[in-house]
Amino acid sequence: MHRIAPTPSGYLHLGNAANFAANALLAEGGPLLLRIDDLDRARFREEYLQDVFDVLRWLEIEWTHGPRDPADFEAQWSQEYRMPAYRKALAQLRQQPGVFACPCSRKELAGGGHRHGCLAGAVDPDRRDVAWRIDTRQHPLHDSMPWFAVRKKDGRPSYQLACTVDDMHFGITACARGADLRDSTEAQALLSDLLGYPQLHERIRFVHHPLLTEEGEKISKRQGARGVRERGVEREEVFAIAHTWLGA
Ligand SMILES: [Zn+2]
Repeated sequence: MHRIAPTPSGYLHLGNAANFAANALLAEGGPLLLRIDDLDRARFREEYLQDVFDVLRWLEIEWTHGPRDPADFEAQWSQEYRMPAYRKALAQLRQQPGVFACPCSRKELAGGGHRHGCLAGAVDPDRRDVAWRIDTRQHPLHDSMPWFAVRKKDGRPSYQLACTVDDMHFGITACARGADLRDSTEAQALLSDLLGYPQLHERIRFVHHPLLTEEGEKISKRQGARGVRERGVEREEVFAIAHTWLGA
């Protein structure tokens, strides 16, 4: 199962559209899931949700699994419905020695952090306003994504946690994502190990594609900031970018 996993927190831009195209090309007409990641309800807007469907239809991408339209999405596909699965994974992680509760602010973390005995397990994980974080000291991710969170301070699952659980839940086997998500892929591999899932790299083939090239940027400027469908871009141009990415 391949996946297209947009976040409805803004109008889609050309890079998102080309990513959709890349995943559709990789899926080669096989199972393709549309998974809309709406954990961040604060930034969610109905028009952004609609935009996802509009862009997919404009690109003439046919997905085999997932919501057919915004109403179907809200009725049964929102990540809110998978909250029990995220909570179960968090309960499992809570028992792991490499996971710790941390009340540190962004500023405290930037200054070295963990002066509350976080790493020694001194913070009650059930306290209000504590994040649950991964001890990355022994991991290469420590340089780029130190102490990444699995549960946020508001008690909700982090993107990394939800994405890992969802990929397992839906049996995802391949995915094209931007090179900017390489660290996320590593973080999700680490979480897969902690959760006892099969090794992520054996299970999912991640193709990290480059971000928009200079030529893509030019096309992007032509279409303006509002949305990829609005003006000037042809469907073929979007697929041409995706082809370039996959051929690279
Ligand atoms: Zn801390």
